[in-house]
Amino acid sequence: PYVLQLQQVERHYNQGDTELAILRGADFSLKRGEIVALVAPSGAGKSTLLHVAGLLEKPDAGEVLLAGDPCSNLTDEQRTDRRRSDIGFVYQFHHLLPEFTALENIMMPQLIGGLPEKEASERAAQLLDYMRIGHRAGHRPSELSGGEQQRVAIARAVANAPLILLADEPTGNLDPETAGYVFEALEALVRQSGLAALIATHNHELAGLMDRRVTLSEGLVVDF
Ligand code: ADP
Ligand code: ADP
Repeated sequence: PYVLQLQQVERHYNQGDTELAILRGADFSLKRGEIVALVAPSGAGKSTLLHVAGLLEKPDAGEVLLAGDPCSNLTDEQRTDRRRSDIGFVYQFHHLLPEFTALENIMMPQLIGGLPEKEASERAAQLLDYMRIGHRAGHRPSELSGGEQQRVAIARAVANAPLILLADEPTGNLDPETAGYVFEALEALVRQSGLAALIATHNHELAGLMDRRVTLSEGLVVDF
């Protein structure tokens, strides 16, 4: 039932002579269909946790399991493959390609993955509908509002039908009202596609709408 498990994960960074222990035996599990808020102060290790969960960074100790499969013994190439098939990332700033339309931006990961253009286009259009901006398909990012840009970025993140959406302050750049609408659309998308999501946010009101809330305390993941 778990799409993601972190078991006793440790992650340290060296800063000059001192070693910063960011994750110190963190345990965390995410179920299919679940939307979990990760709320913690800046510097607590939210991005680190998301990067380890998303196989962007290796833990120094402990294990990450995706859909029950341990990932510590994968080669770099296998990790990249696994990340591409299982994980979608969304960041505070959208990183959309400026010269392409909303639809084309969402098609891109699918075309790179080898999907025929017609299928990629149909799926991208469907995702735009789930995100409630079907009418914006032909617009370039500069012609979209901040909230619309983030909706496109979220749709693009799930274009290849990953198991898990990892989002780092996905609405951090938006006013509270827009953030609420974007989250509603994200939630609809997650529910429709049977995804699971872990979303780092500073917005307590938004966190209150999610299924469960966790924080980082002294390098451990704790419910609150
Ligand atoms: P958050 O996302 O909660 O703001 P981060 O995970 O980005 O926290 O960072 C946690 C701590 O680890 C911070 O003190 C940060 O400076 C440090 N850190 C993050 N990445 C690195 C790195 N690559 N090298 C050294 N220190 C880092
Ligand atoms: P932050 O959360 O600290 O503002 P990001 O989360 O956007 O920054 O990126 C953090 C780090 O992860 C960056 O150093 C970036 O190079 C790396 N990164 C982000 N996405 C990918 C990816 N898809 N593949 C490899 N590295 C990535």
